[in-house]
Amino acid sequence: MNQLTKEEILQQLLGLNSSDLLEIESTIQTMHKLGINLTSNKSKKQVAKISVSNKTKEQLQKSVISLNQDSIENARFSNGLYCISCGCVDGIVKNGKRKNGLQKYKCKNCGHYFSGAKDSVLSGTHKRIEVWETFVWCMNEKYTLSKAAEKCNIHRNTAFMWRHKILNALRDKEKVMLGGIVEADDTFFLVSYKGNHKNAGNFATLYGRAARKRGGENHTKGLSHEQACVACGVDRSQHSFSTVAGTAALTSEKIEKVFTGVIQKESVLCTDGVLSYNDFAQNNNLQLETINATEKQRGIYHLNNVNSYHSVIKAFVSQFKGVSTKYLNNYLLWCNWVQRKKMKDKLRIDTMLKTSLEYKGKIRYCDVLLGAL
Ligand SMILES: [Zn+2]
Repeated sequence: MNQLTKEEILQQLLGLNSSDLLEIESTIQTMHKLGINLTSNKSKKQVAKISVSNKTKEQLQKSVISLNQDSIENARFSNGLYCISCGCVDGIVKNGKRKNGLQKYKCKNCGHYFSGAKDSVLSGTHKRIEVWETFVWCMNEKYTLSKAAEKCNIHRNTAFMWRHKILNALRDKEKVMLGGIVEADDTFFLVSYKGNHKNAGNFATLYGRAARKRGGENHTKGLSHEQACVACGVDRSQHSFSTVAGTAALTSEKIEKVFTGVIQKESVLCTDGVLSYNDFAQNNNLQLETINATEKQRGIYHLNNVNSYHSVIKAFVSQFKGVSTKYLNNYLLWCNWVQRKKMKDKLRIDTMLKTSLEYKGKIRYCDVLLGAL
């Protein structure tokens, strides 16, 4: 068997030490023993990548977890320490630590005690900041609730609330802007009232029918109020946007509502020839290019990117087994966030963590449950 030379591997994967190399070699040998022969250098390199990818993940997690108490303080008090109750900057003294490891302060001016987490996404939690950081890492890895709860040693309900706290924080911070050639098309998800059967009466009034059991077929054929319409837009710089526009077909009014402020003026809007985009295009100085089903592509204009994006969001949402429609927007945001190919994992996790720490809105469990749609 040809040995993979150290030089080759080092060239491919920078920063590997000799124990990494041993690990890779042993993987190749194990495969050889199993009767899998690696004939090309290309496949050897792939094995090398797989062997180190688990290690890299752990390293990444460690580097994120090195963000600690300081990260909250830096995020919250980037312009200097101030009293979160009265806003004064003088007369603030340290006053021990909270159980979760956070520095506590006392304001001599108003007498209030506070930590960097007061009124932030972390308030009301007794978990240490390190647990929160691990959870953010799990979000980036698209972990399911049970997996994330196990990894962080927290209850599933806590994990559920944390997930939506982070996504709410990201939503406030993230403003997507599509430009250039923008492909727009809608897709549908079955309306699910999961976790909201107590309010099924309200839903029945809203949508004209009673709650459906999980996995059930919708009652009527074609587009109806049983289907949540998700408006999607993708530009050629890999920016993507999706949001629940309501139920049933996408109308001009819905388009105006969801895409205003999302598509730059004077962009080119590619759609499938549905007339409802006409007004929006006109009002926003957009060049409208309609591609009908038989045509598929006209020069550089097509809907391939938005169509494959539909598959991406469907696959993402389906792995979470019966996402309730009221949380669908949060899952779409999460999907957009983790699919962003141009962003490195480290930066993604860092930003997610900082955003959630800087988020000043206090989120309670009931807020999470009442959120969206
Ligand atoms: Zn004060």
